[in-house]
Formats: sequence, C-alpha cells, structure tokens
Amino acid sequence: MKCKYCLQTNIVKNGYVTFEQQYKCRNCNKYFTYTGLDQVDSQEIQHLLSSGVHRYSIARKYGSTHTAINRY
Ligand SMILES: [Zn+2]
Repeated sequence: MKCKYCLQTNIVKNGYVTFEQQYKCRNCNKYFTYTGLDQVDSQEIQHLLSSGVHRYSIARKYGSTHTAINRY
C-alpha cells in the first residue's frame, strides 16, 4: 500500500475512523483511510449502484465497506 499523497510506502496503522482503517504516512505525516476502492473506477461503482446492486454486495466484491460505497 502507498501513501495517497507522496506515494511512499512508509506508513503505519493509526486506528479506526468510522469503521475504516486509518493510516498515517511517516514520510509526509498525513492521515488517510484505505477503503479498498482506490483502485476501482468510480464509474463502475456508480453503474453497479444504478443497476440496483446492493451496497453490501458491491463492498464485498471489492473487499471494502458499505460506508465507503456511500460516497458514490
Ligand atoms: Zn505520504
């Protein structure tokens, strides 16, 4: 896994925020969460949602959480 900001891999776990694992980058000291959806095309998720696929099903498909899907 890489930092979203500086793309370094020098990161540590920093506990949970709203059911999502939060990480801290030791290189640039920024916090971020990893949802498992970062590599997924958002249009693909929106397409699945508009097709009536349940958020939980989508989350399971991508190894994410339904709270992450709620952003779409
Ligand atoms: Zn960083």
